[in-house]
Amino acid sequence: MSFSDDDSQQSYSDPWNWITVGNEKQLATLNLVRGNTVYGEKLIRYDGEEYRIWDLFRSKLAAGIKNGLRKLPILSGAKVLYLGASTGTTVSHISDIVGTSGIVFAVESAARVGRELIENVAIHRKNVIPILEDARKPQSYFAIFDRVDVVYCDIAQPDQTEIAVRNCNAHLEPQGALLIVIKTRSIDVTMDPKLVIIQEAKKLEKSEFHIDQIINLEPYDKDHALIHATFKPN
Ligand code: SAM
Repeated sequence: MSFSDDDSQQSYSDPWNWITVGNEKQLATLNLVRGNTVYGEKLIRYDGEEYRIWDLFRSKLAAGIKNGLRKLPILSGAKVLYLGASTGTTVSHISDIVGTSGIVFAVESAARVGRELIENVAIHRKNVIPILEDARKPQSYFAIFDRVDVVYCDIAQPDQTEIAVRNCNAHLEPQGALLIVIKTRSIDVTMDPKLVIIQEAKKLEKSEFHIDQIINLEPYDKDHALIHATFKPN
């Protein structure tokens, strides 16, 4: 296991873009729904296309990319199960990336934010299917008709690694990817955050995952990490 917090380099296969705005390079995704904004993000016209700036302080996936995620397993056409969708900030950028041939099943248990997810995101983006359910009950997602390529988990619960594993067992393709945000303070406030991250990574290894990368999300999110793992069931 290793931590990385170096800046990422753009490569042709990356499903995101770095756009220079003023003197600054900013992360962006190609807008699937022209003219539509989700959380007040800037829209930028470039080369006849429209891009949405992806806020590093509002999305932990964006922070992970900025801090050196080597390979984003979410590609055009991918099927993604997203746990902890909230109002859809990160979901909307994943929707841009997977495009019209992909799909995002967005699970959220809180009714009020779930309503915003529907009104701000799912109504405008046909590739986002909202699922207003508890992620602790993966068998109750009747909208999922096939195994998914990626599970993304950001639910900030003390048992979230166990919840993510249960969801992967129920819905993830063998060799599929898990991206899980570890909010160390939700797991154990008394323990050294680095040790909490290692503890959660070890739980994944015991549950038939190979750890590909662990990324520290500072300075965008204090005491948080993003783990990228591959599901290798026997
Ligand atoms: N991933 C979001 C983003 O980047 O835009 C932010 C997610 S926020 C940190 C955590 C979300 O997980 C909250 O909206 C919360 O209601 C949701 N959540 C917590 N426990 C859950 C559960 N058991 N099932 C589904 N959603 C849950």
